[in-house]
Amino acid sequence: MTSGALPAPKPGILDIEAYVPGKSAAPKGIPLHKLSSNETPIGPSPRAVEAMQAAIAHLELYPDGQATALRHAIAEAHGLNPANILCGNGSDELLGLLCSAYLAPGDEAIHTEHGFLVYDIYIRAAGGTPVVARETDARADVDAILSCVTERTKLVFLANPNNPTGTYLPFDEVRRLHAGLPGHVILVLDAAYAEYVRRNDYGAGIELASEAANVVMTRTFSKIHGLAALRVGWMYAPEAIVDALNRIRGPFNINALAIAAGAAAIGDRAHVERAVAHNSQWLEWLTGRLEALDLKVTPSVGNFLLVHFPEEPGFGAAEADAYLTERGFILRRVTGYGFPNAMRLTIGSEEANRGVVATLADFLGRPAT
Ligand SMILES: *Cc1c(COP(=O)(O)O)cnc(C)c1O
Repeated sequence: MTSGALPAPKPGILDIEAYVPGKSAAPKGIPLHKLSSNETPIGPSPRAVEAMQAAIAHLELYPDGQATALRHAIAEAHGLNPANILCGNGSDELLGLLCSAYLAPGDEAIHTEHGFLVYDIYIRAAGGTPVVARETDARADVDAILSCVTERTKLVFLANPNNPTGTYLPFDEVRRLHAGLPGHVILVLDAAYAEYVRRNDYGAGIELASEAANVVMTRTFSKIHGLAALRVGWMYAPEAIVDALNRIRGPFNINALAIAAGAAAIGDRAHVERAVAHNSQWLEWLTGRLEALDLKVTPSVGNFLLVHFPEEPGFGAAEADAYLTERGFILRRVTGYGFPNAMRLTIGSEEANRGVVATLADFLGRPAT
């Protein structure tokens, strides 16, 4: 039997704007500096690469569905109970699983005004309603988030530090946020950039997720550990939440190469320290040089900077993007994040950082410094 009807996704799916990853193409023959996806210029630990190469010998075997070696390596590195750790195919997968497990149609999930776009996608995909809390000076505002809470709220997503702003909430503010939430609301602390933060008043959320029944911290191997291509992330959460997500995840959601590489990477502290030192040095240098070009830069504690362009015609983010791309420097437009006249710049290699500053100086008609 046939009828004219066509398959249709469930309500809400076609309202979702597909995620657009950072660009990665430069004109032919020009060296490419990809500064658009917050990837590390340091690359992965050589130990991670070796471990992965060893794992390649047995591609015919299914991976360990519990990712035991990886969970134990993470637990050891951070002093955690492995039973409270769940690994994901990137931390993105875990954010999606939280939405699938905790949002019924009509339930609400809060994220902040310039928060990571992935939250909106997963909230809607689960049939939930995204609720946007305004920010103050491109920073999450605890009172604004709390004022969005209703009986239907199930999840609050806080990227700390946030992407693409690079701003963060001190830990006492995160505690104040948690204290103001009803017990049934899960606070998701997305700490993808935690390792880069060099501030005494910052905390990724381990203490809070240990103490409270409704706090989850997510982390990733994609940024400081340089394993973005393998897709591996983890979450630290109360056992009841780990249990709920374990019931709905794919049985082999982390592949064997990712398990091996991740476990080796997290044990290579010296590699992480090198990456942090490089970032701290060049974050400060780039902030200073860009400000010297009269570009406004949102103060960042991550591995990227939000750079605001002049309102003057001809000198905006769109023109800067075209000029930089032509010369091999790929930054990220952030119009979808509510910043039509800014771009996000990932801290790169010394060569890339010096090159992007010189190219921006040319673009703005300033002498090179
Ligand atoms: C990069 C990033 C992640 C990490 O995503 P993966 O899926 O682990 O690669 C998570 N949250 C934010 C805010 C990010 O910028």
